[in-house]
Amino acid sequence: MGRVVITGGAGFIGSHLCERFLKEGYEVVCLDNLITGDLRNIKHLFKNKKFEFVEYDVTNYIYIDGKVSGILHLASCASPVDYLRFPIQTLKVGSLGTHKALGFAMAKKAVFLLASTSEIYGDPLVNPQKENYWGNVNCIGPRGVYDESKRFAEAMTMAYHYTHGVAVRIARIFNTYGPRMRPDDGRVVPAFINQAIAGKPLTVFGDGSQTRSFCYIDDMVEGLFRLFKSSAATPVNLGNPDEKRIVDFAKVVLKLTKSKSKISYRKLPVDDPKVRCPDIGKAKRILRWEPKISFEDGLKETIKYFRKLRGRSGRRN
Ligand code: UDP
Repeated sequence: MGRVVITGGAGFIGSHLCERFLKEGYEVVCLDNLITGDLRNIKHLFKNKKFEFVEYDVTNYIYIDGKVSGILHLASCASPVDYLRFPIQTLKVGSLGTHKALGFAMAKKAVFLLASTSEIYGDPLVNPQKENYWGNVNCIGPRGVYDESKRFAEAMTMAYHYTHGVAVRIARIFNTYGPRMRPDDGRVVPAFINQAIAGKPLTVFGDGSQTRSFCYIDDMVEGLFRLFKSSAATPVNLGNPDEKRIVDFAKVVLKLTKSKSKISYRKLPVDDPKVRCPDIGKAKRILRWEPKISFEDGLKETIKYFRKLRGRSGRRN
């Protein structure tokens, strides 16, 4: 089947992708410097002879012996809390890391897939967002370190495609959730679920009228796999177009966890996008892909995961 390298393979989406490629018969080399990735996400794969893990910072030159048919560049901080904690690493992995990964793809004649993001649209002035929308980004705002590194990464990816003929794929990944998110990564799904099951107030930022559209991890992995196998060189939105207000999302979490927690309103972070919803027409057309898992089913699985995690760590409150 071939051999793929997955950077950020010990992270949330990366670890699910490692699993998927192994299931499809590929050999998988997982690179991760573990600043936000976690070995617990991949430890069950260590017994698989087709899986190899290398602790590595991909902002440095990448060398791996032997044939490689694909490199999927997932390495990055991806939660606002994380990229505010690691702003320079975030900029470096999107810029230097993407450059190294593209150079590696070129040397190996491998397909390169970039995990880009809906954040390249910034605080969008059109809703839903189509791939031909250029975005509205504050380059020197707190989120700029992530947004601009990914915008640079897309530019670099297209330049390698046009200049060197590298076969590239660009996935613009919208909010994704599911098992293996870190409970403390600060994103709204793990935050609300963990607050609800601990009986703590749900921290809604602003008045909660801002919207997001949440895609379950299994749907996302399917989309990424199909994109990798396709021949689409230009960006493709991957996400679930089921748009929700954050305050309504909080209420769904309270209902599904049967929690008595209250909602506590906090200051809205700077440059927090007011709306976000993917137009997935292109993915439907060229990948024959659309999300299948309902919000309620996906959330139930995720709640189960966080309950188990809390049980294991012995925390009750
Ligand atoms: N949010 C919230 N409470 C939290 C964490 C996030 O109200 O404890 C809001 C946040 O302001 C944003 C949305 O939920 O409007 C999604 O935030 P997240 O950090 O998950 O990702 P983003 O889509 O902003 O990158």
